[in-house]
Parts: sequence; C-alpha cells; structure tokens
Amino acid sequence: MTLLACEGGQPVRPDFLVFGRPKIGEEEIAEVADTLRSGWIGFGPKCLRFEAEFSRFAHAPHAVSVNSATAALHLALIVLDMRRGDEVVTTPLTFAATANVIVHTGARPVFADVDPQTQNLDPGELERAITPRTRAVIPVHMTGWPCEMDAIAAIARKNGLQVIEDAAHAVEAWYRGRKIGSLSRFTAFSFYATKNLTTAEGGMLTTYDDSVVERLRILRLHGLDKDAWKRYSQGGFVPYQTLEPGFKYNMTDIQASLGVHQLKRLERNLEVRERLWHLYDEGLAGVEGVRTPRLPASPGTRHARHLYTIQLDLEKLSVDRAQFMKALSAENIGTGIHFVPVHLHRFYQNTYGYRRGDFPEAERIGDRTVSLPLSASMDEDDALDVVTAVRKVARHYLLRETVASIAIEAETVMPDARV
Ligand SMILES: *Cc1c(COP(=O)(O)O)cnc(C)c1O
Repeated sequence: MTLLACEGGQPVRPDFLVFGRPKIGEEEIAEVADTLRSGWIGFGPKCLRFEAEFSRFAHAPHAVSVNSATAALHLALIVLDMRRGDEVVTTPLTFAATANVIVHTGARPVFADVDPQTQNLDPGELERAITPRTRAVIPVHMTGWPCEMDAIAAIARKNGLQVIEDAAHAVEAWYRGRKIGSLSRFTAFSFYATKNLTTAEGGMLTTYDDSVVERLRILRLHGLDKDAWKRYSQGGFVPYQTLEPGFKYNMTDIQASLGVHQLKRLERNLEVRERLWHLYDEGLAGVEGVRTPRLPASPGTRHARHLYTIQLDLEKLSVDRAQFMKALSAENIGTGIHFVPVHLHRFYQNTYGYRRGDFPEAERIGDRTVSLPLSASMDEDDALDVVTAVRKVARHYLLRETVASIAIEAETVMPDARV
C-alpha cells in the first residue's frame, strides 16, 4: 500500500489545494481599478448598482448592501425590535455569527436540532422549541440546500414568528420554483472570501417589506438621514442628522466592483461546482469509511453547492477526524469543518447552559463532517486529486476488522490507479 504523505510518502499533488479559493476575473480587477481611479471608493454609485442588480437576481423588491451577512442578520433583528426577554430559534449547525447576532439584541438564542439527511433545521424540532417568548426563527440553508421553507413558514404563521433566512451558503438556490431571497420577510446573504459570490467582505439583506427599507438604509450608516454619497457629491456638502444610533455596516464601491462581476459569473461558477460535485459523488461512492451527501428529491429546488461535506464513519476508522484532516493536508488537500455546533462553544455553554447531548443530530454531523474543496477556481484534475487523497487516507486508516468484514467483497473495492 502507498505510504501516506504524513508518514513520509509522496503527497497526491505537489502544490497545496487551498480550501475556498475564490475565482476572481479580469473584469473584477478592471472594475476595482476603475473605482480606485474614480476618486470615490466608499459607499456610492457602484453599491447602488450592485443592489439594483442583486435585487433583480434574487427576485426581491429590495436589496440593502452591507459589509457582511452578520450585519444583515443583525439589522433584520433590530428592525424587528428583538430585545431582552425574546427568544429566537435557529439551528446549532451554523456559523457562530447566526447565533451571536441574536445575543447582541439581548434576545435568547434557542437551538432546535437538524434533519440528519439535509443538515437543515428540522421543522418538527422548531415547533418543539417554540415558547410564548419566541418571536423569530433563523433557518440556515446549510451547504446551499434550501430548508423546508413551506413547513417553516406554516409554523411561523401559526405561532406569529418572523422569518429571517440565513442564505450565506445559498445565493444561487431555489426552493420549489422560487428564488431564495424572495420567500421570507428577510434573507441575509454573505459575500465573504470563501462564499459562492465574494466581495472579500460583504453582505446583502433582501426584503419585500417596503416599510423597513428606509430604516435599514439609515441603520447601516450610523443612523444618519443622509449617506456620505449624498452629503458630499451632489452640489456640495449637505448637513445631516442622526435619526437613531445606527451602525457602521455599509458596503464600499470597491467591494461592489467585485460584486457586480461576481454576480454576472455566478451561473457559470455554479456549473463548474456542479461538475466537481459529480466527480466527488462518483469518485467517493462506496468508499469505506466515508459517506457522501444524499439529498431528497424536491422539484423546483436548486442546490447552491457551496459545501461538499463528507461524513467520516468514525466507527470504521482507526483515527479521529483531526488526524484524518491532517493526513489530507499532508497530501496537499485543504479541508474545513462546517460546523462545530454553536451550542458546544464555550460562551453558549457557560451563558445558556447548553450541553453535549442536547442536539444529537447536529452533534453527530458536527463530529464527523469534513468539507472538501469546492470552488469555481478548481478544475477537474484538482477534484480528482481530492478523490484520490480521500480514498488513499480512508483506505489506510480503515480498521482491520472492517477490512476483514469487507474482504469478501474485495473485488468490488475499486483499485485506484493513481494511488
Ligand atoms: C459565512 C457565514 C455567515 C457570516 O457571513 P459574514 O458575511 O462573514 O458575516 C453567517 N452564516 C453562515 C451559515 C455562514 O456560513
């Protein structure tokens, strides 16, 4: 058997495949240069153009640009007047920011467990988590696969809850014939460096609610009645008033320069990731020790393919996940973990008394999940390297008992020519 690179063998590839490397085109670079030369680099005309184009793309009446999805989620909670004594339900299987913003408003983050197949908030668990204090729910479209929004919306309606979607993974996603961004009162998108559409840092909040848009625009810029673009650009300086203490959450024209061209290339990038996804599905099918994603059929629903996550069958492996990832890293394959469930983080345990065991499905996924590189900057050879490395590492660490028990089907274990 070929020696693992972490034990002194040859790595599968000579150079490191970085996890989440963005694809930046010459159009973005030219647009950023144009902005830099224009003399206006802050919030301005390119942000407004990006907002208009994004709102059209998302089938959302309004899109408010901000400097992160975290800011978008926070602003949505603020205009919904979330405060101490309120409860907001979300999934524990998310990035810490989804829960942190609930804490910032004074409300209590309440978690509800996920569906083991989709990794998304389980509507039945959401219903069980509701109390008389519950005011909102934040479903997260994990890996880019939409949550069961019909069920969640019905529960929200019945219980008088507001819905804020965390679509940080799901910019290209559709749910039963409807574009993500057009379904709920609020949807937050992330344009962080590793996301499907990136502006290095950035985010967007879409809404169909005309009555809150102006306040959102004011809150993202200190709570001023006039943004700097209006203060300085149109016929000289105009004095401004603070209407309420807002936030420094605005996007800049440099970021929007990236955004408008990333948006144009979104569909093509998704096609690239779909091809990589199928190579992973094919190359890793039936590999002992790892499980590939299985999603239910859902007509009119489109996966945004942000994260390809495998689940390690730890019972069949002689090493833990950390060692498995270290071995992949030595093979020059970068990986990630999405996510360590939020209720297992120290702050949430110390502050709210959450414990391991509270959300078994999220924990089972959180303990076993490994995200493989999935970026439009990769080509098919990169994906085949990942397949080769995962097969090599999994085979090496398969427990002897497992090997013995599958020995009778040894013929069906495909020899991999590249290992
Ligand atoms: C990345 C991410 C966020 C935060 O996005 P930022 O734009 O970095 O603030 C929120 N939720 C999820 C699920 C994410 O993956």
